[in-house]
Amino acid sequence: MLADKLNLVKKNIEEACDTAGRSPQEVTLIAVSKTKPVEMLKEAYDAGARVFGENKVQEILDKYDQMPSDVQWHMIGHLQRNKVKYIIDKVTLIHAVDRYSLLKEIEKQAAKRDLEMPVLIQVNIAKEESKHGFEVEEIDEVFNSLKDYPHVKVRGLMMMAPHIESSETEKYFKMTQELLQRLQKDYPMYQLDQLSMGMSNDYHEALKHGSTMIRIGSALFK
Ligand SMILES: *Cc1c(COP(=O)(O)O)cnc(C)c1O
Repeated sequence: MLADKLNLVKKNIEEACDTAGRSPQEVTLIAVSKTKPVEMLKEAYDAGARVFGENKVQEILDKYDQMPSDVQWHMIGHLQRNKVKYIIDKVTLIHAVDRYSLLKEIEKQAAKRDLEMPVLIQVNIAKEESKHGFEVEEIDEVFNSLKDYPHVKVRGLMMMAPHIESSETEKYFKMTQELLQRLQKDYPMYQLDQLSMGMSNDYHEALKHGSTMIRIGSALFK
């Protein structure tokens, strides 16, 4: 049952937070519903899920009208620039801002609609060839450029852990947490309170290192 799985993840979040001396209140569970049919999303909704993560624009558009209006949609995947206009007024957070051209387009579309778009900056913390995201060395340039994008509301960082043993993964969670802490100090003009890291098989470790948004797919929908 999906409800059982959801409750198990919630219980694990509480335990992990307890161990880390954190409040589970500061953690958002994102139900990653990509490729899943609306019936499953409704089941998750009935079990209490309110925040859904998708990685395709078309899928958000298809599901948006079929789900209750109090659902919060998060765009968690690589976003094509020419598709920003379709979701800018439908999603509450864009997780994977990984290039200047995307920042620029989000600014343009948000300004057009007179709204502020919350985003996370994706960082390629493990320096993987295959991964999207800004390099750590570029991050200050990115944050210094944010003043040029007044309709983009940066809220923190997002990372994807490399597919390696979890003992190794933890190092990257720690590095991302330390990077965010440093940015919070150096850029106090922004409300940098979100850290999107941790998926089904590594959210325990991510929660040890300050993650505030865990993106859970397979542990809920199988
Ligand atoms: C699919 C996906 C997830 C969920 O991964 P699971 O291992 O199924 O929990 C999280 N984040 C992103 C960006 C994804 O594309």
